[in-house]
Amino acid sequence: GSDRAQERGIAYYKLSRDSFSAGRLTMASELQKALANNELKLYLQPKLNLATGQIAGLEALIRWPERNPSVGADEIIMLAEQTGLIKPLTRWALEQSLQLRNCLLENGQRFKLSVNISPNNLREPDFPLFVKRLMSAHPQHGGAIIFEITETSMMQDPVNALKALNSLTNAGIPVSIDDFGSGYSSLSYIKQLPASEIKIDRSLITDLATREEDRVIVQTTIDMCHSLGYLVVAEGVEDEATANLLKGMGCDMIQGYLLSRPLPLEKMLTWLTDRHEAASMQRAPG
Ligand code: C2E
Ligand code: MG
Ligand code: MG
Ligand code: MG
Repeated sequence: GSDRAQERGIAYYKLSRDSFSAGRLTMASELQKALANNELKLYLQPKLNLATGQIAGLEALIRWPERNPSVGADEIIMLAEQTGLIKPLTRWALEQSLQLRNCLLENGQRFKLSVNISPNNLREPDFPLFVKRLMSAHPQHGGAIIFEITETSMMQDPVNALKALNSLTNAGIPVSIDDFGSGYSSLSYIKQLPASEIKIDRSLITDLATREEDRVIVQTTIDMCHSLGYLVVAEGVEDEATANLLKGMGCDMIQGYLLSRPLPLEKMLTWLTDRHEAASMQRAPG
Protein backbone atom coordinates (compact mmCIF):
# COMPACT_ATOMS: atom_id res chain seq x y z
CA GLY A 1 0.00 0.00 0.00
CA SER A 2 1.20 3.44 0.89
CA ASP A 3 4.41 2.14 2.47
CA ARG A 4 5.40 0.59 -0.85
CA ALA A 5 4.57 3.80 -2.68
CA GLN A 6 6.63 5.70 -0.20
CA GLU A 7 9.54 3.33 -0.72
CA ARG A 8 9.28 3.89 -4.44
CA GLY A 9 9.00 7.61 -3.81
CA ILE A 10 12.17 7.54 -1.80
CA ALA A 11 13.88 5.51 -4.47
CA TYR A 12 12.90 8.06 -7.11
CA TYR A 13 13.96 10.92 -4.89
CA LYS A 14 17.36 9.31 -4.37
CA LEU A 15 17.82 8.70 -8.07
CA SER A 16 17.00 12.26 -9.04
CA ARG A 17 19.10 13.73 -6.26
CA ASP A 18 22.20 11.61 -6.72
CA SER A 19 23.11 10.83 -10.27
CA PHE A 20 20.07 11.72 -12.38
CA SER A 21 19.77 15.49 -12.12
CA ALA A 22 17.81 17.12 -14.96
CA GLY A 23 20.98 18.06 -16.80
CA ARG A 24 22.37 14.56 -16.52
CA LEU A 25 19.12 12.98 -17.70
CA THR A 26 19.16 15.21 -20.79
CA MET A 27 22.81 14.38 -21.46
CA ALA A 28 22.15 10.67 -20.93
CA SER A 29 19.28 10.66 -23.42
CA GLU A 30 21.41 12.61 -25.90
CA LEU A 31 24.22 10.11 -25.45
CA GLN A 32 21.75 7.28 -26.07
CA LYS A 33 20.63 8.99 -29.30
CA ALA A 34 24.22 9.61 -30.33
CA LEU A 35 24.96 5.90 -29.86
CA ALA A 36 21.85 4.86 -31.81
CA ASN A 37 22.60 7.35 -34.63
CA ASN A 38 26.22 6.29 -34.89
CA GLU A 39 27.50 9.72 -33.82
CA LEU A 40 30.13 8.29 -31.50
CA LYS A 41 33.56 7.56 -32.95
CA LEU A 42 36.64 5.63 -31.92
CA TYR A 43 39.89 7.54 -32.44
CA LEU A 44 43.21 5.71 -32.63
CA GLN A 45 46.47 6.36 -30.80
CA PRO A 46 49.70 4.43 -31.55
CA LYS A 47 52.00 2.58 -29.17
CA LEU A 48 55.74 2.42 -29.97
CA ASN A 49 58.12 -0.48 -29.30
CA LEU A 50 61.21 1.23 -27.83
CA ALA A 51 63.68 -1.54 -28.72
CA THR A 52 62.74 -1.77 -32.42
CA GLY A 53 61.41 1.74 -33.07
CA GLN A 54 58.37 0.12 -34.72
CA ILE A 55 54.71 0.81 -34.03
CA ALA A 56 53.52 -1.95 -31.68
CA GLY A 57 49.76 -1.40 -31.84
CA LEU A 58 46.92 1.10 -31.60
CA GLU A 59 44.46 2.01 -28.84
CA ALA A 60 40.83 2.91 -29.60
CA LEU A 61 39.50 5.88 -27.59
CA ILE A 62 35.91 7.07 -27.68
CA ARG A 63 34.95 10.52 -28.97
CA TRP A 64 31.66 12.37 -29.43
CA PRO A 65 32.78 14.64 -32.28
CA GLU A 66 29.75 16.97 -32.08
CA ARG A 67 30.58 17.62 -28.40
CA ASN A 68 34.35 17.44 -28.67
CA PRO A 69 36.19 18.67 -26.64
CA SER A 70 33.54 19.82 -24.15
CA VAL A 71 32.43 16.23 -23.45
CA GLY A 72 35.50 14.00 -23.12
CA ALA A 73 35.90 10.23 -23.00
CA ASP A 74 35.96 10.10 -19.19
CA GLU A 75 32.63 11.93 -19.01
CA ILE A 76 31.01 9.80 -21.73
CA ILE A 77 32.04 6.63 -19.91
CA MET A 78 31.00 7.88 -16.47
CA LEU A 79 27.59 8.85 -17.80
CA ALA A 80 27.20 5.53 -19.59
CA GLU A 81 28.17 3.61 -16.44
CA GLN A 82 25.67 5.53 -14.31
CA THR A 83 22.77 5.00 -16.70
CA GLY A 84 23.28 1.41 -17.84
CA LEU A 85 24.28 2.57 -21.33
CA ILE A 86 27.74 1.07 -20.84
CA LYS A 87 26.51 -2.36 -21.91
CA PRO A 88 25.37 -1.32 -25.43
CA LEU A 89 28.20 1.22 -25.66
CA THR A 90 30.95 -1.36 -25.05
CA ARG A 91 29.32 -3.81 -27.45
CA TRP A 92 29.21 -1.06 -30.06
CA ALA A 93 32.88 -0.20 -29.35
CA LEU A 94 33.94 -3.84 -29.76
CA GLU A 95 32.04 -4.26 -33.03
CA GLN A 96 33.36 -0.92 -34.24
CA SER A 97 36.93 -1.94 -33.36
CA LEU A 98 36.63 -5.04 -35.52
CA GLN A 99 35.47 -2.86 -38.43
CA LEU A 100 38.33 -0.43 -37.85
CA ARG A 101 40.79 -3.30 -37.83
CA ASN A 102 39.29 -4.62 -41.09
CA CYS A 103 40.01 -1.19 -42.64
CA LEU A 104 43.54 -1.27 -41.22
CA LEU A 105 44.12 -4.75 -42.68
CA GLU A 106 42.78 -3.60 -46.08
CA ASN A 107 45.44 -0.89 -45.95
CA GLY A 108 48.20 -3.34 -45.10
CA GLN A 109 48.39 -2.34 -41.41
CA ARG A 110 48.35 -5.50 -39.32
CA PHE A 111 48.44 -3.86 -35.89
CA LYS A 112 46.87 -5.14 -32.72
CA LEU A 113 44.06 -2.95 -31.47
CA SER A 114 43.41 -2.23 -27.78
CA VAL A 115 39.87 -1.50 -26.58
CA ASN A 116 38.93 -0.12 -23.15
CA ILE A 117 36.43 -2.13 -21.11
CA SER A 118 34.46 -0.95 -18.08
CA PRO A 119 34.37 -2.97 -14.83
CA ASN A 120 30.56 -2.94 -15.25
CA ASN A 121 31.02 -5.07 -18.37
CA LEU A 122 32.86 -7.69 -16.32
CA ARG A 123 29.75 -7.94 -14.13
CA GLU A 124 27.44 -8.72 -17.09
CA PRO A 125 26.82 -12.48 -16.88
CA ASP A 126 26.60 -12.80 -20.68
CA PHE A 127 29.66 -10.68 -21.48
CA PRO A 128 32.16 -13.54 -21.99
CA LEU A 129 29.67 -15.34 -24.26
CA PHE A 130 29.08 -12.15 -26.28
CA VAL A 131 32.82 -11.73 -26.71
CA LYS A 132 33.39 -15.38 -27.66
CA ARG A 133 30.65 -15.27 -30.30
CA LEU A 134 31.85 -11.96 -31.71
CA MET A 135 35.46 -13.12 -31.96
CA SER A 136 34.63 -16.49 -33.50
CA ALA A 137 32.55 -14.69 -36.15
CA HIS A 138 35.69 -12.66 -37.03
CA PRO A 139 38.61 -15.12 -36.90
CA GLN A 140 40.88 -12.67 -38.78
CA HIS A 141 41.12 -10.69 -35.51
CA GLY A 142 41.97 -13.67 -33.27
CA GLY A 143 44.36 -12.57 -30.51
CA ALA A 144 44.61 -9.10 -32.06
CA ILE A 145 41.98 -7.27 -29.98
CA ILE A 146 43.43 -6.47 -26.55
CA PHE A 147 41.03 -5.63 -23.70
CA GLU A 148 42.24 -2.81 -21.40
CA ILE A 149 40.84 -2.65 -17.90
CA THR A 150 41.91 -0.21 -15.20
CA GLU A 151 43.65 -1.50 -12.10
CA THR A 152 41.53 0.63 -9.73
CA SER A 153 38.21 -0.47 -11.22
CA MET A 154 38.98 -4.12 -10.55
CA MET A 155 39.62 -3.47 -6.88
CA GLN A 156 35.91 -2.69 -6.35
CA ASP A 157 35.18 -6.41 -6.74
CA PRO A 158 38.53 -8.20 -7.11
CA VAL A 159 37.29 -11.79 -6.91
CA ASN A 160 34.66 -11.48 -9.62
CA ALA A 161 36.83 -9.23 -11.79
CA LEU A 162 39.50 -11.94 -11.71
CA LYS A 163 36.95 -14.63 -12.67
CA ALA A 164 35.67 -12.55 -15.59
CA LEU A 165 39.20 -11.76 -16.78
CA ASN A 166 40.08 -15.45 -16.64
CA SER A 167 37.11 -16.38 -18.80
CA LEU A 168 38.18 -13.73 -21.35
CA THR A 169 41.77 -14.95 -21.50
CA ASN A 170 40.50 -18.54 -21.78
CA ALA A 171 38.62 -17.35 -24.85
CA GLY A 172 41.94 -16.13 -26.30
CA ILE A 173 41.56 -12.42 -25.49
CA PRO A 174 44.81 -10.70 -24.42
CA VAL A 175 44.25 -8.48 -21.36
CA SER A 176 46.10 -5.28 -20.45
CA ILE A 177 46.03 -3.58 -17.02
CA ASP A 178 45.44 0.16 -17.55
CA ASP A 179 46.44 3.11 -15.33
CA PHE A 180 48.71 0.90 -13.21
CA GLY A 181 50.14 2.71 -10.19
CA SER A 182 47.21 5.07 -9.77
CA GLY A 183 45.50 2.82 -7.21
CA TYR A 184 46.36 0.64 -4.27
CA SER A 185 46.20 -2.95 -5.42
CA SER A 186 48.29 -5.49 -3.57
CA LEU A 187 51.17 -7.31 -5.22
CA SER A 188 49.55 -10.66 -4.43
CA TYR A 189 46.51 -9.57 -6.45
CA ILE A 190 48.54 -8.23 -9.36
CA LYS A 191 50.49 -11.47 -9.72
CA GLN A 192 47.24 -13.43 -10.11
CA LEU A 193 46.02 -11.33 -13.03
CA PRO A 194 45.92 -13.20 -16.33
CA ALA A 195 47.25 -10.14 -18.16
CA SER A 196 49.97 -9.93 -20.79
CA GLU A 197 50.62 -6.19 -20.49
CA ILE A 198 50.71 -3.47 -17.82
CA LYS A 199 50.31 0.23 -18.64
CA ILE A 200 52.00 2.56 -16.14
CA ASP A 201 49.72 5.50 -15.36
CA ARG A 202 50.52 8.89 -16.86
CA SER A 203 50.74 10.45 -13.37
CA LEU A 204 53.98 8.52 -12.77
CA ILE A 205 55.42 9.38 -16.20
CA THR A 206 54.69 13.11 -16.56
CA ASP A 207 57.53 14.30 -14.26
CA LEU A 208 59.92 11.40 -14.83
CA ALA A 209 62.71 13.66 -16.11
CA THR A 210 62.60 15.94 -13.06
CA ARG A 211 61.51 13.70 -10.19
CA GLU A 212 63.99 11.16 -8.85
CA GLU A 213 61.23 9.48 -6.75
CA ASP A 214 59.14 8.85 -9.86
CA ARG A 215 62.16 7.29 -11.59
CA VAL A 216 62.65 4.94 -8.62
CA ILE A 217 58.97 3.94 -8.63
CA VAL A 218 58.83 3.45 -12.41
CA GLN A 219 62.10 1.46 -12.54
CA THR A 220 60.86 -0.79 -9.71
CA THR A 221 57.50 -1.25 -11.45
CA ILE A 222 59.14 -2.15 -14.77
CA ASP A 223 61.45 -4.71 -13.11
CA MET A 224 58.65 -6.23 -11.04
CA CYS A 225 56.33 -6.48 -14.05
CA HIS A 226 59.06 -8.10 -16.13
CA SER A 227 59.74 -10.63 -13.36
CA LEU A 228 56.03 -11.47 -13.37
CA GLY A 229 56.09 -11.88 -17.15
CA TYR A 230 54.22 -8.75 -18.23
CA LEU A 231 55.12 -6.38 -21.06
CA VAL A 232 55.27 -2.77 -19.86
CA VAL A 233 53.81 0.31 -21.57
CA ALA A 234 54.41 3.86 -20.29
CA GLU A 235 51.39 6.15 -20.84
CA GLY A 236 51.42 9.90 -21.47
CA VAL A 237 54.95 10.29 -22.90
CA GLU A 238 55.13 13.84 -24.25
CA ASP A 239 58.86 14.46 -24.85
CA GLU A 240 62.05 12.80 -26.14
CA ALA A 241 63.83 13.09 -22.77
CA THR A 242 61.15 10.95 -21.10
CA ALA A 243 61.17 8.44 -23.98
CA ASN A 244 64.97 8.07 -23.70
CA LEU A 245 64.81 7.63 -19.93
CA LEU A 246 62.18 4.90 -20.34
CA LYS A 247 64.25 3.15 -23.00
CA GLY A 248 67.22 3.14 -20.60
CA MET A 249 64.97 1.72 -17.87
CA GLY A 250 64.02 -1.23 -20.09
CA CYS A 251 60.42 -0.17 -20.65
CA ASP A 252 58.97 -2.11 -23.62
CA MET A 253 56.59 0.42 -25.15
CA ILE A 254 55.51 4.05 -24.93
CA GLN A 255 52.30 5.85 -25.81
CA GLY A 256 51.63 9.58 -25.77
CA TYR A 257 51.48 12.91 -27.57
CA LEU A 258 55.23 12.62 -28.42
CA LEU A 259 54.18 10.09 -31.06
CA SER A 260 50.66 11.23 -31.88
CA ARG A 261 47.41 12.38 -30.34
CA PRO A 262 44.45 10.04 -30.86
CA LEU A 263 43.28 10.50 -34.48
CA PRO A 264 40.29 9.37 -36.56
CA LEU A 265 40.99 6.31 -38.74
CA GLU A 266 41.68 8.20 -41.99
CA LYS A 267 44.18 10.50 -40.30
CA MET A 268 45.84 7.59 -38.50
CA LEU A 269 46.23 5.75 -41.83
CA THR A 270 47.95 8.83 -43.29
CA TRP A 271 50.14 9.16 -40.18
CA LEU A 272 51.18 5.48 -40.41
CA THR A 273 51.96 5.75 -44.14
CA ASP A 274 53.95 9.00 -43.74
CA ARG A 275 55.95 7.49 -40.89
CA HIS A 276 56.66 4.35 -42.87
CA GLU A 277 57.84 6.40 -45.88
CA ALA A 278 60.03 8.62 -43.71
CA ALA A 279 61.66 5.48 -42.25
CA SER A 280 62.36 3.92 -45.66
CA MET A 281 63.83 7.24 -46.93
CA GLN A 282 66.24 7.14 -43.99
CA ARG A 283 67.24 3.58 -44.86
CA ALA A 284 67.70 4.32 -48.55
CA PRO A 285 71.35 4.90 -49.60
CA GLY A 286 72.49 8.35 -50.74
P1 C2E B 1 43.10 5.52 -20.90
O1 C2E B 1 42.60 4.24 -21.47
O2 C2E B 1 44.12 5.45 -19.83
O3 C2E B 1 43.60 6.36 -22.14
C1 C2E B 1 44.65 7.29 -22.10
C2 C2E B 1 44.15 8.70 -22.04
O4 C2E B 1 45.26 9.61 -22.02
C3 C2E B 1 43.33 9.12 -23.25
O5 C2E B 1 42.39 10.10 -22.82
C4 C2E B 1 44.37 9.77 -24.16
O6 C2E B 1 43.81 10.68 -25.10
C5 C2E B 1 45.21 10.49 -23.13
N1 C2E B 1 46.59 10.68 -23.56
C6 C2E B 1 47.33 9.92 -24.39
N2 C2E B 1 48.59 10.38 -24.51
C7 C2E B 1 48.66 11.48 -23.72
C8 C2E B 1 49.72 12.43 -23.43
O7 C2E B 1 50.86 12.33 -23.91
N3 C2E B 1 49.40 13.43 -22.57
C9 C2E B 1 48.17 13.56 -22.04
N4 C2E B 1 47.94 14.60 -21.22
N5 C2E B 1 47.15 12.69 -22.29
C10 C2E B 1 47.41 11.66 -23.12
P2 C2E B 1 40.88 10.05 -23.30
O8 C2E B 1 40.82 9.65 -24.75
O9 C2E B 1 40.23 11.32 -22.88
O10 C2E B 1 40.27 8.83 -22.47
C11 C2E B 1 40.18 8.89 -21.08
C12 C2E B 1 39.80 7.57 -20.49
O11 C2E B 1 38.45 7.22 -20.86
C13 C2E B 1 40.65 6.41 -20.99
O12 C2E B 1 41.87 6.37 -20.29
C14 C2E B 1 39.74 5.22 -20.70
O13 C2E B 1 39.84 4.83 -19.36
C15 C2E B 1 38.38 5.82 -20.94
N6 C2E B 1 37.90 5.44 -22.28
C16 C2E B 1 38.17 6.00 -23.48
N7 C2E B 1 37.52 5.36 -24.48
C17 C2E B 1 36.82 4.36 -23.91
C18 C2E B 1 35.94 3.33 -24.41
O14 C2E B 1 35.69 3.16 -25.62
N8 C2E B 1 35.39 2.48 -23.46
C19 C2E B 1 35.68 2.59 -22.12
N9 C2E B 1 35.08 1.73 -21.28
N10 C2E B 1 36.49 3.53 -21.63
C20 C2E B 1 37.07 4.41 -22.51
MG1 MG C 1 43.36 2.53 -22.05
MG1 MG D 1 45.51 4.59 -19.01
MG1 MG E 1 42.93 6.49 -17.90
